[in-house]
Amino acid sequence: MGDNVPVARFLCRHKTENRPLSYRPLSYMILTFLLAVGAVGCVYNEITPPQAEMEIQINDDAALQVIEAEETGEGNPGAIVSGTEMQVIDDMEPQETEMEDRRHDGTAPPAIGFIDAHADTISRALRMDRNLFSNDLHVDFERLLEFGAPVQVFAVWLEDRYVNNAYESANHQIDFFGSEIAKHSDIIEIALTLEDIERNARNNKISAILSIEGAEPLEGKLENLDHFYNRGVRIVTLTWNRENELGYGVGADRGDGLKPFGVECVKRMEELGIIIDVSHLNEAGFWDLCNISSRPFMASHSNAYSLTPNRRNLKDDQIKAIAERGGIIGINLYPEFHKVNGNASSGSLMEHISHFISIGAGANLGLGCDLDGFDPMPEGFTDVSSLMMLADEITDAFDEETSQKIMSGNFFDFFVRYAQ
Ligand SMILES: [Zn+2]
Repeated sequence: MGDNVPVARFLCRHKTENRPLSYRPLSYMILTFLLAVGAVGCVYNEITPPQAEMEIQINDDAALQVIEAEETGEGNPGAIVSGTEMQVIDDMEPQETEMEDRRHDGTAPPAIGFIDAHADTISRALRMDRNLFSNDLHVDFERLLEFGAPVQVFAVWLEDRYVNNAYESANHQIDFFGSEIAKHSDIIEIALTLEDIERNARNNKISAILSIEGAEPLEGKLENLDHFYNRGVRIVTLTWNRENELGYGVGADRGDGLKPFGVECVKRMEELGIIIDVSHLNEAGFWDLCNISSRPFMASHSNAYSLTPNRRNLKDDQIKAIAERGGIIGINLYPEFHKVNGNASSGSLMEHISHFISIGAGANLGLGCDLDGFDPMPEGFTDVSSLMMLADEITDAFDEETSQKIMSGNFFDFFVRYAQ
């Protein structure tokens, strides 16, 4: 891709300079349309929802499968606006505030209760026929509001049975996600840029960042990366556990690195401003990425292998490589990924945090809780509300500053670094 391709870098600080060229005229057209019709736009047609659910695959461990005869949602109409269009509703210019001075010191705007890099709530809610505002899953908008204006990354993730129809299935999930956000735009908005996060924090709104976990929805076509970018996706986890067109997940590791299409995608993602996520990627792919990447990247939900030798965790040299590149790692609450001597608790989580700090990655550690991607929760945890307890426990085990950095400050600084 040439340097002259108009791109909107994720989390850029000056949105008007970096928006796609068509953004502003398009925004006014759409705003006019919305005012005229008096309703949220209906750009996308409904895509056939998944049929009866017989086998539920738990996201983070392909071996874990739960048989459950659930009917999935028939509703979730596809009436939704695309990511770019959603932005238009609140297109005010950013204001210079004291937040400008708070960057780079591990301090996020105070309203941001936490920044979490990974939740599987979209696919789980669809599977279980729940909404995103108020449900009995790990995460909903109502409980996120307890934290003021937190930043929650919502992942699109596909069970094996949807992989052959990955593009359409991912679009269906994004339709659902967008319609849920649009229904509750008074409390939550999609964040496409760093400025969006800051504005939402000022307005006490939740920021929702959209990610794709496992790039199967690209179906091997680079233009689909642009399609999903235009629908609001700002993070792509290159692989899930399985092999895909980009490379090999930890569950399909034969020692091979990124495929040619994976290398192409990395370059295009960095041009567009889609953050690259290496959680689930095999080691050879990880080191290939280190050799070709030019921007900081993330491991959205992975812990330390040296404490918990699970294939999904990061070895110390990987952690250091992420830190050296200014990247970020989200600590995962899934017990299998942080248990020490067979026990998973907040104590074992503290051991992982301590380890990251001890090898020099203390400024590169945030949250990637993986909520709604596993069950059961670690002892003492119930759902997203438990993150208040986690913040207190980090304060007790370390100090207030460390807690603040892990809960939100380090991630906020990562977004700032990425935008530069
Ligand atoms: Zn995952």
